[in-house]
Amino acid sequence: MDVRSDDLLTVVVAACNEAASLPLLHPRLRAALDRVDGVRTRVLYVDDGSADATWEVLQAIAAADPEVALLRLSRNFGKEAALTAGLDLVEQGAAMILDADGQDPPELIGEFVALWRQGYDDVYGTRIAREGEGWIRRAAAAAFYRLIGRLSRTPVPADTGDYRLLSPRALAALRQLRERHRFMKGLFGWVGFRRIALPYRRQPRLAGRSNFGLWRLWNFALEGITSFSTAPLRIATYLGLASALLAFAGMGVVLAKTLLWGDPVAGWPTMMVVIMFLGGVQLIALGLIGEYLGRLYEEAKQRPLYLVETWQPDAAGVSSPPRFANGGAAHAHGTSAAGRQAG
Ligand code: UDP
Ligand code: MG
Repeated sequence: MDVRSDDLLTVVVAACNEAASLPLLHPRLRAALDRVDGVRTRVLYVDDGSADATWEVLQAIAAADPEVALLRLSRNFGKEAALTAGLDLVEQGAAMILDADGQDPPELIGEFVALWRQGYDDVYGTRIAREGEGWIRRAAAAAFYRLIGRLSRTPVPADTGDYRLLSPRALAALRQLRERHRFMKGLFGWVGFRRIALPYRRQPRLAGRSNFGLWRLWNFALEGITSFSTAPLRIATYLGLASALLAFAGMGVVLAKTLLWGDPVAGWPTMMVVIMFLGGVQLIALGLIGEYLGRLYEEAKQRPLYLVETWQPDAAGVSSPPRFANGGAAHAHGTSAAGRQAG
């Protein structure tokens, strides 16, 4: 059986506590894949350390569908690591990333494939509507994209998530990026090649609730900015410079006042204000340096990005061979995997 790499598509779905959504999603995915012709398709579900019945549900799905492969991580590593684990296993053909909760409609896969066929390497879904999201979330998202667009030289298209198709060469390029802080949107942008947006309407969740609260989103935004820009470090320099200038001006005023009128002990409030201001600026700068230092520290540890508990190839066996005899720590191309989560 000769499988050329350009006629195989693997859909990678990361799932964490999606026992209620998956039985609804899979039939839709199956139907959508059956409608794609000229391309052989596989589905690879990655169970990212779910605490509910997700794994059992996935096994039932795989038992009924020979074109489903399963991967279970040893614990919850976060969506980015789960996707990395899945994509690492796609050794042939293109990969399509889809959320397990049905927010990315599988019915559009045919359109993604068509654009891939036209020669695009990174076909990314861009939401034209964010249904079921409050205005705070939308405003925060808009501010985030504006900020990262200014700070970083890597293109990060607005309103674009992980719903996308990657050609074999884009996938191979992505696999070389092994950093622990995986801000996927940035990593996809860094890879480059021929990219095109595919607008779609993001649906509400099929069941359950989002794993990303506002706090996790805030951390995710910090992750994105510090992973793809060192501009904040420079901001610290400017803050320092501005406060030093202010201090000099203040010094002139104080000196002149003392010389002209003398100075009986007054000035306690001014002193407190100055001390607090400088203390604050210094702490901000230290905090910023700390953020980057922390990332350096995590990177230096060189831990694997994820650990695999179970790998179950699809029955047709076209998906990649198991490489996890040693518990998944490292495999073929020295691709160890990524630690912290990042939503
Ligand atoms: N997910 C995951 N690991 C996590 C959190 C989320 O694999 O630690 C998966 C989740 O099952 C879903 C996708 O990532 O398929 C998006 O998560 P969610 O729907 O909670 O986020 P939102 O769509 O609200 O941004
Ligand atoms: Mg979702």
